[in-house]
Amino acid sequence: MARIVMKFGGTSVANIERIRHAARHVKREVDAGNEVAVVVSAMSGKTNELVNWCTDAAPMHDTREYDAVVASGEQVTAGLMSIVLQDLGVQSRSYAGWQVPIHTDDTHGSARITGIDPHNLDERMSDGWVPVVTGFQGISDKGRITTLGRGGSDTSAVAVAAAVKADRCDIYTDVDGVYTTDPRIAPRARRLERVSFEEMLEMASLGAKVLQTRSVELAMAQGVRLVVRSSFDDPDAANAPGSDWGATGTLVCDEDEIMEKQIVSGVTLAKAEAKVTLRKVKDRPGVAAAVFGPLADAHIVVDMIVQNISDDGAHTDITFTIPDSEFDKAMRVLKAAPGLEYESISGSKGGAKISVVGVGMRSHAGVASSMFKALADKGINIQLITTSEIKTSVLIDEEYAELAVRALHTYYGLDKAED
Ligand code: ASP
Ligand code: MG
Repeated sequence: MARIVMKFGGTSVANIERIRHAARHVKREVDAGNEVAVVVSAMSGKTNELVNWCTDAAPMHDTREYDAVVASGEQVTAGLMSIVLQDLGVQSRSYAGWQVPIHTDDTHGSARITGIDPHNLDERMSDGWVPVVTGFQGISDKGRITTLGRGGSDTSAVAVAAAVKADRCDIYTDVDGVYTTDPRIAPRARRLERVSFEEMLEMASLGAKVLQTRSVELAMAQGVRLVVRSSFDDPDAANAPGSDWGATGTLVCDEDEIMEKQIVSGVTLAKAEAKVTLRKVKDRPGVAAAVFGPLADAHIVVDMIVQNISDDGAHTDITFTIPDSEFDKAMRVLKAAPGLEYESISGSKGGAKISVVGVGMRSHAGVASSMFKALADKGINIQLITTSEIKTSVLIDEEYAELAVRALHTYYGLDKAED
């Protein structure tokens, strides 16, 4: 017997038929003798609709009321899921965030979970009931409904799993796991059997959209094993007897659980990256702060940063990347930045960041150089390079992005065998 939290995303609960299908996955786990809690998203498209309604009502609106509105999507699916489960003969009831309760701070629209009282859920699960919890929401200490930010129900699920000390948290979605790269770009991409929290974190933040980054951070901090799996599988045949965590999909777990560490586990791509270069800024303490402070104040998220060693001892060049959509704003902010002196500012949109990620990089030399070689062989020019312990990233022209991903995927032996 295991204790499992099962989370269903928007596409998995998009209509009654899908909810019924998802409920059959739940019933399978219950019938197998497991204790189960369910966490649900809103039906796909619903949250967008609710957000738009708020904006239509008033472009500048009270975020506490925004939360009251957008949290309602999850309440609908939680109730429907319980109805359907009952119809299948599974004892179930729904819980809105405040009923659990899931406590959050009062940063409306992007609240953080501060604690979950496991008592109600624990009791239900031990009695063989399936509590169905609304994802994405909680209650502030002022008693107001809060939401966690878009994609937040993954984080809800992980937090619930940690609170009830679940053996694992199964994230049911519209893909059957985490892939070595986007299969739409590289048709020979493979599903990973296992991937470490750290690799997943890099991949999630680099644009592999399966899991909200915050949920992976939380899972890593709390040691919650995650399984990313498809809700579209046949519910009666969806558990893999051969896999030691009992399920199909990709297990996201501690590095220690992964015997054979790949040097490179995945190749990721983020498009629409703009680069900005400041030439001949003064080379003295405080200059980097003068550049990046105003950008941060304007809520512009900066990604790669490269600063040159100065050759005249007085000046240096700084280049960084930001999303294309922030390019014009960043140029404006820097041109108006107080006390920032430079000779010229230039930049362009339309870059792509390609990264190779793998925990094996820690102990293997030469990953960066082999990456550069593989790109050179395809005649692809590298504009910027950054590295971290388990990742090497390059900025290239967007035009060559797909070619680069495929080349690296093949180069690092990630292609699945031809069938
Ligand atoms: N329904 C929310 C959203 O669309 C939360 C979630 O699905 O994770 O962002
Ligand atoms: Mg989601």
